[in-house]
Amino acid sequence: MAFNIAIDGPAGAGKSTIAKLVAKKLSYIYVDTGAMYRAMALYFLRKGIAPQDEKAVSAACDEITVTLSCESGEQQVYLNGENVNGLIRTEEVGKATSIVSAYAKVREKLTQLQREMAQTTDLIMDGRDIGTCVLPQAQVKIYLTASVETRGKRRFLELQEKGTGCRLETICQDIKNRDEQDMNRKLSPLRQAEDAVLVDSSFLTIEQVVERILEIVEEKE
Ligand code: C5P
Repeated sequence: MAFNIAIDGPAGAGKSTIAKLVAKKLSYIYVDTGAMYRAMALYFLRKGIAPQDEKAVSAACDEITVTLSCESGEQQVYLNGENVNGLIRTEEVGKATSIVSAYAKVREKLTQLQREMAQTTDLIMDGRDIGTCVLPQAQVKIYLTASVETRGKRRFLELQEKGTGCRLETICQDIKNRDEQDMNRKLSPLRQAEDAVLVDSSFLTIEQVVERILEIVEEKE
């Protein structure tokens, strides 16, 4: 049986940074499920389908194929054969993603794909519902979180580095809205699985979080 590590938590908690480093240390595949949801949202936006229109979004799901590949150690996400990695990290796509990821048709499609990947491969998968819904049998489950202020400041610095103008208060408000949506939706809401270990990264460095997770994995192996 493959060894699966599930990392869940709110936006900006550092899941992807941490998961990538842990995957490298363990020579595991890293799967960023958020990128899969984002690719689907990008499709709907391009087609002019309003994210709020569940009927239209659900009907269009069958037109979409999302695939992942690992190139030079980096996950690449393909939307109907097109590499969309560079197009899915905008605020517009993020907001649309949070809305469409609440729909059953969207979740069923990606959950099935994620389960298939985890069956045969040792991997570390991050998202919102990996430990609670996608891989309830995962050998290691982590719930990685940080305060809204910490997450907002991290995002603020990231955007500043990219030369994108932004206000810290706006970013913190966007994060709160996304938490609210992800935690309160009916299907697979973001929450800590009963058997997940809580790691709060607010006052930890990236290296400290990676160390902590490697310790947890070692205990379970
Ligand atoms: O992790 P990331 O910020 O890229 O995820 C974007 C959005 O995709 C989240 O806010 C959430 O609404 C959705 N998502 C989800 N389930 C997952 C991963 C992401 O609903 N497993």
